[in-house]
Amino acid sequence: MKSEIIAPGATLGVLGSGQLGRMIALSAAPLGYRIAVLGPGGRDSPAGHVSFWAEDWKDPHNVSDEPLDTFCGLVSVVLIEWENVPVELVRRIERRGVPVRPDSIVLGVAQSRALEKDCAQHNGIPVPRYRVIADARDIAGFSGGILKTLHGGYDGRGQIRLSSALPLEHAWSELKRVPCILEDVVDFTHEISVIVARQFGTDSESRLVTYGPFENRHEGGILRTTTYPARVPAKAAADACEYARRLAAHFDLHGILAVEFFVTRDGGVLFNEMAPRPHNSGHLTIDACATSQFEQYVRAACNLPWGSMRFCDGMSVMHNIIGDELDGWLGHLNEAGTFLHLYGKTSVQPGRKMGHLTRTSVN
Ligand code: AMP
Repeated sequence: MKSEIIAPGATLGVLGSGQLGRMIALSAAPLGYRIAVLGPGGRDSPAGHVSFWAEDWKDPHNVSDEPLDTFCGLVSVVLIEWENVPVELVRRIERRGVPVRPDSIVLGVAQSRALEKDCAQHNGIPVPRYRVIADARDIAGFSGGILKTLHGGYDGRGQIRLSSALPLEHAWSELKRVPCILEDVVDFTHEISVIVARQFGTDSESRLVTYGPFENRHEGGILRTTTYPARVPAKAAADACEYARRLAAHFDLHGILAVEFFVTRDGGVLFNEMAPRPHNSGHLTIDACATSQFEQYVRAACNLPWGSMRFCDGMSVMHNIIGDELDGWLGHLNEAGTFLHLYGKTSVQPGRKMGHLTRTSVN
């Protein structure tokens, strides 16, 4: 069942309707697949615009049986584009006999900052020191670190760096006293990510492909640029790839997994977080690699042979287009070696990812 080929002509489901879903759909189309989307906005969403069927799930925690039955009746396999898809929704799809790649188990672990770190540690992967803050007794005696909500944070939201002006007690109140983790501040030289796709195709020798590590620079918790190859010590790069593969093997992953790490001053690699979906840092693979992360994800889900992992020469850099930077779109069209991707979002908001640019063969 796991290794059965899903042939072109089939419809692939996508949970979530943002830019990742859009880029999944755009890479599935040349292989002859159709895409059905279940996510916010339905047809009027970045993924909905390029799919043949799309339905607004309204509230992902309360999707009624009717659209879910229709979606499940259409699709042969479901892919994930948003890591906060409720696990129960994924289970309902699995119970209807439709495989979700990656499955509800890896999704459930990735949705908890504590569970994912426990899992990394269990697999011998170093993590920053952390503790769970679940009730008032847990906050005594701690003064420094970064407080992060256990669930649901993204793009720097749901996390606060403690300071003398903002002690733990106040920070926790600002986060509405929901369950959190308190993590040591890591003195890192680089942030990197590795993306692994894994499948059960007929050729068991080549179950897994690895992209990265990518070098990521954040501003205000939001990814600003990604550079490939990462300018990190070779040992750190090799360790990060090995750790990501180890996690993929641990979950017996079918699909795709992105893992973020910190590289410390002594060249050590610490696990930060993981997401069972394509990753913003992998967007440059669309223009700089023979096969993008999105296409490889589709191939993994459908058990097709992998596409070539050839990377273009030199260095590639991806810049996110955030908020009103969208206004500069026209100028980028004239730049040699620059590829512009816009996500078709109609409302511009500060901090919202509106598109990205890839510059290939940068010297
Ligand atoms: P996260 O959502 O955990 O990836 O955090 C967003 C960004 O905040 C990271 O990419 C880092 O730039 C920064 N950050 C998160 N955790 C830490 C940490 N423990 N030490 C230093 N910086 C951090």
